[in-house]
Amino acid sequence: MPPFDKVKVEQFQPALEEGMARYRREVTAIVSNNTPFVKPAPGEPALLGWRDAQTLFHEFGHALHVLGSNVAYPSVSGGRVVTDYAEFPSKLMEHWLGTPEVLGRFALHHQTGQPMPAALVAKLRKAATFN
Ligand SMILES: [Zn+2]
Repeated sequence: MPPFDKVKVEQFQPALEEGMARYRREVTAIVSNNTPFVKPAPGEPALLGWRDAQTLFHEFGHALHVLGSNVAYPSVSGGRVVTDYAEFPSKLMEHWLGTPEVLGRFALHHQTGQPMPAALVAKLRKAATFN
């Protein structure tokens, strides 16, 4: 490469065009509604309930599905696929929420930092198969 003062702007044109092309592609927005689903008492923190956590994981599954789509035909990507397949990543995320590995990492008590007690995890699992 020549000394910097001898470099012509045209030499950077391909890299500039490549960089600009990156910003012309489809952009996927990840939106999370973080308003408290259950309004906390004054001075108390807003906490997610079990259904709220399931919804968050479910919707994040849809976001991951869209973000992971890189196809020639947009009609077969992300949320534009048949419903069963569109829901697959979200249902998988919902399933992972209830695993000991995820609960032990993310379902921590807001004051103690302790993971959800095993008895409560068992109760959630039992409730999931009620009926
Ligand atoms: Zn869904």
